Amino acid sequence: MPTPANAITTDALIIGAGPAGLFAAFELGLLGISAHIVDALPYAGGQCIELYPDKPIYDIPGTPATTGRQLVAQLLEQIKPFNTPLHLGQQVSVLEIPNASANEQTNLARFKVSSTANQTFVAKAIVIAAGVGAFVPKKLSVAGMDAFDGTQMVYHANQLPNAANQRITVVGSEDAVVQAAIDLCQHQAQHHSVTLLHRRDVFNAAPETLHTMRSLVASGQLRLCIGQIAGFDTDKNRLSALHITDVDGVTNALPTDTLLVLQGLSPKLGPVADWGLALERKQLPVDTAKFQTSEAGIFAVGDINTYPGKKKLIVSGFHEATLAAYAVADRLNPHAPTPLLYTTTSSLLLERLGKLV
Ligand SMILES: Cc1cc2nc3c(=O)[nH]c(=O)nc-3n(C[C@H](O)[C@H](O)[C@H](O)COP(=O)(O)OP(=O)(O)OC[C@H]3O[C@@H](n4cnc5c(N)ncnc54)[C@H](O)[C@@H]3O)c2cc1C
Repeated sequence: MPTPANAITTDALIIGAGPAGLFAAFELGLLGISAHIVDALPYAGGQCIELYPDKPIYDIPGTPATTGRQLVAQLLEQIKPFNTPLHLGQQVSVLEIPNASANEQTNLARFKVSSTANQTFVAKAIVIAAGVGAFVPKKLSVAGMDAFDGTQMVYHANQLPNAANQRITVVGSEDAVVQAAIDLCQHQAQHHSVTLLHRRDVFNAAPETLHTMRSLVASGQLRLCIGQIAGFDTDKNRLSALHITDVDGVTNALPTDTLLVLQGLSPKLGPVADWGLALERKQLPVDTAKFQTSEAGIFAVGDINTYPGKKKLIVSGFHEATLAAYAVADRLNPHAPTPLLYTTTSSLLLERLGKLV
């Protein structure tokens, strides 16, 4: 396939913006290697943000306690000096590995990577930090509703349209959905109405979140609707109402302009399995010196990799990202071995960190 004119060329492409991918960007930046990061989620943080944003984490070295959200904020702060571009909300779908003759001509393989946002990247090294796979939202399965996907039906709160006077229905049962309904009521007064919809009057949320939600319902700021979506109405091809069937089998119309579906996310290994790399139980086997996969120039760090003794912990991903970054540096500069430098004493590193005035 020819390379499109708008392709982004970079030294390294990092697939996944979880803790391992973000720290890989930091270590690459320290070594003077440019990198871009791609993630399927519309925000950085991987499992930390998606699965336990406000739970305390106690086993990050030198950090007695933090939360998923705080850790990710610190990791993003740490990579600021390198201005690493993040390409969010797009899944890496294709990874083309150059053939041997192309390798010989250029002396260095250039990988071509394409995302679901039609963005192509050309990179000299790939760092796969894909965790347990791309987090993709669990879709709503109501016949015909997919016609509104991305317009009147969205799967992330930050994809909600800004338009005023929207009748928004939020569907789901977990903490995130209850919080989203509260946020919509409290912070976005321009909405005409907000309805929280679930098939049972049972929500899996923290007690204080539930208390706030119930107070908003009691004061009439939030409508609670218990039932299942059985169908929908349209007006001039636009979604205008949902048909909600309650526990007694009675169906009523719920006027809706925008539907926010938060039924959780499921990780999909998906494309990683199709890139021709050796796999072992859905993970990428790597060596423990470079964390390189079965393909030279393609590295794997964090939960996606496997090796004897592997522990799926954040701290393991940090170590792996560090050694992988050194291996990328050696690959890019094969005739000049990368020296070990300390951030405390190296003026080169301090300059890269923007700490030298
Ligand atoms: C409930 C829970 C609690 C935990 N608590 C702790 C703890 O206390 N301490 C600890 O050390 N560890 C903990 N862990 C484990 C820790 O969260 C993981 O080890 C860590 O998140 C792995 O980081 P990662 O960057 O490798 O992957 P992830 O955090 O999974 O991030 C991978 C990212 O890659 C993206 N991605 C994947 N495929 C693609 C693709 N094709 N295109 C674009 N993007 C893609 C995903 O969307 C995701 O954002 C916990 C895990 C869970 C589930």
